Amino acid sequence: RTRTSAELIRAEEPVLAHNYHPLPVVVARAEGAWVEDVEGRRYLDMLAGYSALNFGHRHPALIEAAHRQLDQLTLTSRAFHNDRLAEFAERLAELAGLDMVLPMNTGAEAVESAVKVARKWAYDVKGVPDGRATIVVAAENFHGRTTTIVSFSTDETARTGFGPFTPGFRIVPYDDLAALEEAVDETTAAVLIEPVQGEAGVIIPSAGYLAGVRELTRRKGCLFIADEIQSGLGRTGRTFAVEHEDVVPDVLLLGKALGGGIVPVSAVVARREVLGVLHPGEHGSTFGGNPLAAAVGTAVVDLLQTGEFQRRAAELGVVLRDGLAELVGAGVVGFRARGLWAGVDVDPAIGSGREISERLMREGILVKDTHGSTIRLAPPLTVTAEELRSALAALKQVLGS
Ligand code: PLP
Repeated sequence: RTRTSAELIRAEEPVLAHNYHPLPVVVARAEGAWVEDVEGRRYLDMLAGYSALNFGHRHPALIEAAHRQLDQLTLTSRAFHNDRLAEFAERLAELAGLDMVLPMNTGAEAVESAVKVARKWAYDVKGVPDGRATIVVAAENFHGRTTTIVSFSTDETARTGFGPFTPGFRIVPYDDLAALEEAVDETTAAVLIEPVQGEAGVIIPSAGYLAGVRELTRRKGCLFIADEIQSGLGRTGRTFAVEHEDVVPDVLLLGKALGGGIVPVSAVVARREVLGVLHPGEHGSTFGGNPLAAAVGTAVVDLLQTGEFQRRAAELGVVLRDGLAELVGAGVVGFRARGLWAGVDVDPAIGSGREISERLMREGILVKDTHGSTIRLAPPLTVTAEELRSALAALKQVLGS
């Protein structure tokens, strides 16, 4: 006998670490923008795996690429070459307008790798005295969960109990060029920011900020690292969110959707001068650049090169924005949106983000709260206008009831 959703949720309790508080839905199957639970109830996925499912669940081209590769070769480690990695790196570097790729697996690993590479660049290229390199980051950032990364988080829940922390980081307010100007000095290896702060509630910086960071880092002689792990790969209506200000950073961090929702794939993509500081033995990953990941990642680049997903995100983003604008004053206090991505602040009198998410779940819509009374909407870029309108109608109903 297969277990029910309720039984499976209860079964997790004693055996699974409690580091998440999932909505009480147990997904068993999915296709496109829809998921189905154990009992066969269908839900519209308005979270898309925190943007790891930009192309929807089980996109046919990605599944086909994975199947084809499963029948040939899945893993070599980097002790040997594999026949898929060159093409993946060539195509990804070209997509990013940069030169070289360091393939990793998870987002946090890409960030960790970029921290190491930026420090090494500071010593080898910039001439910062050994052990003195600093990296400037923004308050309310989210870059992952490793010890070094939570060392520069401003979220006490993410940090408390996990010290001692890694030194060498300076935290400035987000969207504040004057503060950045003051924090960057001759020890600065890099400025590391999210072009849109996702976990913080889809915080979009003022017009000119990203271009300003580019100008400042160039003028001061440090690297601009853009963490596009959540904002990149079509989500905002462009391939990369930095394109909204025609900016090319020195280092671009990608993850989530790069693996097509099938395998974990992340990458540090950078100029040759930057990734060129790594020599054999100085960094690595058993799974990074494996042929299955490379095959799926290459298929993801193929999809992005059609421009279809960026166009959909931009066009449907207007539907999303208009729909949310109608709810302001009717349960919504404010919202921020770019492409198919929105942070929606609900009137706390109506419910917490968690409560609103649970009510939407009962209406067949899956979203996730971020902080307090904010919910995040990030559907697969394959969602239709009609599906999006039905999600907005459900939100309206939930806010009114
Ligand atoms: N960077 C950003 C901007 C993210 O949004 C995330 C995940 O939410 C990460 C890094 C960490 O990625 P991962 O969970 O794959 O380690």
